[in-house]
Amino acid sequence: MDPFYYSFNNYLKTRFQSRVRRISLNAGFGCPHRDEKLGLKGCFYCNESGFVSYKDIKLSLVEQIETSMAIFKKQFKADKFIAYFQNASNTYAPVEDLKQIYDVIKQFDQIIGLAISTRPDCIDDQKLKLIDSYCGQYEVWLEYGLQSIHIQTLELLNRQHTMQDFLDAVAKTAKTRIKIAAHVMLGIPGESRQDMIATALSLARLPIQAVKVHIFHILKNTRFAEIYEQEQFKLISEPEYVRIACDFLEHLKPDCAIMRLVSESSQELLIAPLWMNQKQKILHAIGNEFQKRGTHQGSYWGKNK
Ligand code: SF4
Repeated sequence: MDPFYYSFNNYLKTRFQSRVRRISLNAGFGCPHRDEKLGLKGCFYCNESGFVSYKDIKLSLVEQIETSMAIFKKQFKADKFIAYFQNASNTYAPVEDLKQIYDVIKQFDQIIGLAISTRPDCIDDQKLKLIDSYCGQYEVWLEYGLQSIHIQTLELLNRQHTMQDFLDAVAKTAKTRIKIAAHVMLGIPGESRQDMIATALSLARLPIQAVKVHIFHILKNTRFAEIYEQEQFKLISEPEYVRIACDFLEHLKPDCAIMRLVSESSQELLIAPLWMNQKQKILHAIGNEFQKRGTHQGSYWGKNK
């Protein structure tokens, strides 16, 4: 149990009293924001190969699930699983197709949850109704990519949605039984410590139950890779990230589960920052920083209302 923040693993252990692992799946979804036929180039940091789940779409969803289950049972003694639709925008299809795709979980007794990652502007009432229909039997999560509350940052990343899109999606989802997570990036060029704390404060006011934190990084074959080659703009250092991760967590609600605090990337694709793929070392440094400060997740929550 991490004494400084409420990890998603702790949440799962308490909720299910057993070893639960998330199985990342690639259902072959596209993204409404990356349709080259429409001239859309997607987020400037996005490289589809950067998603950690199955690259080989030739494997069916059933095969992906069976393969991951076998590995996680052996490696982690896991006995329950959450099917996590991770690649691209996993609500970007007609409702009937979505149902057919998500229904794969019904073939596996050991799957107890469904998690779906998407853009906040790629959801509607019909899709929410479908996703909510799994809640009677499964733990169901919708994970919305936000990255930052600041419009200038969303523009810099070329997200092509607004904070209002995110607020609308959260408000609609909160009326269902679906649990909500937000994806956020720390260390985006141009964002100050106060900007990142402001994002934490906004999330702490919303009905969301989890946050997934990514470190801003540059992957090959992205627009940012081209810009970085020309400008070599400054990226956050490891000690800076450790401090800002603590600042960020201190302002979140104490019961908001942290799905991830240190993102990793394929070494072949990563351009910068190269310190990023040392997850355990960085997590250890974050623990030390909290200890030095005498704080923890939620220490300042509610004090800036
Ligand atoms: S919304 Fe997601 S999948 Fe689409 S371009 Fe952005 S990062 Fe890539």
